[in-house]
Amino acid sequence: MARREHVQIKTDGEIAKMRVAGLVVARTLAKLRAAVEPGVSTADLDAVAEKAIRDEGAIPSFKGYQGFPATICTSVNNEVVHAIPQRKRVLREGDLISIDCGAIVNGWHGDAAITVPVGAVAQNLLEMTEACEQALWRGLAAAQLGGKLTDISAAVERYVHPLGYGIVDHYGGHGIGTEMHQPPHVLNHGRPGRGIRLVEGVALAIEPMITLGRPDTAVLDDDWTVVTTDGSFAAHTEHTVAVTSRGPWVLTELDGGVAKFAELGVACGQPAQSSAA
Ligand code: MG
Ligand code: MG
Repeated sequence: MARREHVQIKTDGEIAKMRVAGLVVARTLAKLRAAVEPGVSTADLDAVAEKAIRDEGAIPSFKGYQGFPATICTSVNNEVVHAIPQRKRVLREGDLISIDCGAIVNGWHGDAAITVPVGAVAQNLLEMTEACEQALWRGLAAAQLGGKLTDISAAVERYVHPLGYGIVDHYGGHGIGTEMHQPPHVLNHGRPGRGIRLVEGVALAIEPMITLGRPDTAVLDDDWTVVTTDGSFAAHTEHTVAVTSRGPWVLTELDGGVAKFAELGVACGQPAQSSAA
């Protein structure tokens, strides 16, 4: 951990390019959210995602990444992240699915994930899904100029811990830019005030993963699917955010974070002149 990792600092122009990729991801996830229903297979969702991304002239980030065979990760119920879409995995009423999606435009990446209930689901699953979303936005709001990396980690933990959910420790967020995964690693827990300084042009994917039970995970024999070892259900949400002088700009949210940050009383870093972008 003593090794200083190189963090790619983006220019305003490069962040604007990442915004283009982020919007492709945002629109694709909106289509996927609408497509989730009982009877749909995770392979069906993958087809929706690949078409949506390629129709915009973008490239799926995940397909071929370290041999990953699909456009999205579709992690159902006790699967936490990285599950491979499959024809035989048909969604049923009461399931909870996390969909993780990445796209590349002109060499720049966007990466985001949503957790979506399938039909009517148990109240405790809805509550966990909402908690994961809220934790994500607390983390995004902490991506403030002049702060430190683990201010984000601490903000996520501070929200989740009192609610009693497990916080998955083994996976987390990451720097993002001309590669999907760059330094630094972004933990979902820890003390604030540590790690890299958040300067203008830092871009991060923040992604809390929480469980109804223990936070411990294992990887299945397919070498991808991460599951909870106690079988408890999990939720996962993610956005790509840029640190700007005006505040955090959520590159994978359609409005850049304006509405959610207003609820939290946080200034949004989206440039005023690009409100339509
Ligand atoms: Mg992701
Ligand atoms: Mg990610």
